[in-house]
Amino acid sequence: MTIARDLRTLPNSPQTTATYPSLFRADIENHLVALRDAEGPLVQAGPNSRIRHSWAGMCARRIGYSVSGAEEEPNDAESLWSFALGRKAHEIVQDALLAAYGFQCSIEHEVDLGDRSCHIDALLDLEKPKGFEIDGVTHIAKTVCFELKSTGGYSWSLQVKTEGPKLGAYLQGCLNAAAVDADLLVIGYLALDRQSKTARTLYGPNRLPLDAVWATWAYTREQYMPDAEREAKRLSKVLEVVDSGRLPERVVPELPHGAKITDPKTGHWLVLGNDDQEGLTVVQAGEYWGCNFCSHQKRCAADAEAEKSARA
Ligand code: SF4
Repeated sequence: MTIARDLRTLPNSPQTTATYPSLFRADIENHLVALRDAEGPLVQAGPNSRIRHSWAGMCARRIGYSVSGAEEEPNDAESLWSFALGRKAHEIVQDALLAAYGFQCSIEHEVDLGDRSCHIDALLDLEKPKGFEIDGVTHIAKTVCFELKSTGGYSWSLQVKTEGPKLGAYLQGCLNAAAVDADLLVIGYLALDRQSKTARTLYGPNRLPLDAVWATWAYTREQYMPDAEREAKRLSKVLEVVDSGRLPERVVPELPHGAKITDPKTGHWLVLGNDDQEGLTVVQAGEYWGCNFCSHQKRCAADAEAEKSARA
């Protein structure tokens, strides 16, 4: 029997099922909580700010809860883990930009717009305007606003191949770029794990290894400004509703027109239409992923139950 054959007959390790509960889990969890606590709560970039641009694209009701000061549910350890990984990935890109552009680059650039504010991941204000090639066309830019996002490799590859950046990331980038009147908005997506060689070839020819973990979408002022204005208007409307003592509807820009979330516990949404014969009918239905990542889900679900009872 050859040595190679010997090894092939061996199991991967004497134990193939992972230990449960995982050993040292509490130590890692404590460390993640300590990292979060050391960071402290996110400080708004302006004293009168009520809306953060990072809420762009979110459910209007969720923004309403945040604006009205409703207490948020704490992040679980899984979320803290993914935030910690994402933060590291962002720092790598921010450090790279600082190394390349020095004083022309501002990291976590604060902007105060009165009732809105933001921290821009990186803002370049170049001494000399520079040409950036986008889809074969050179665009000259002096100010470049970066919105950085990180995600798992599978979701990253879907975005690169077909979906593009998440609507929330794009709208946040639009608002930030508009806030500083940037010549160019760059949405940079980082994959938190590397791609297989086969997956890499699907992105197209002439891709370099870093293109398998770092993807960009770029928008000129003419492209991003109309969407920035639309989203700014929607956020102002949310403020108006909250200031009138109400909570906004459970509506999300990425859902079809007229869709309302009817069950916050699952994210189930409906579009209702009028039927001459039978009254209201369901035209479209689905599940919104964001409810399961919402820091107000429990409160929202309780409110939905109360609203239902009040209507009955
Ligand atoms: S649970 Fe869903 S419907 Fe409720 S606030 Fe959050 S995202 Fe909106």
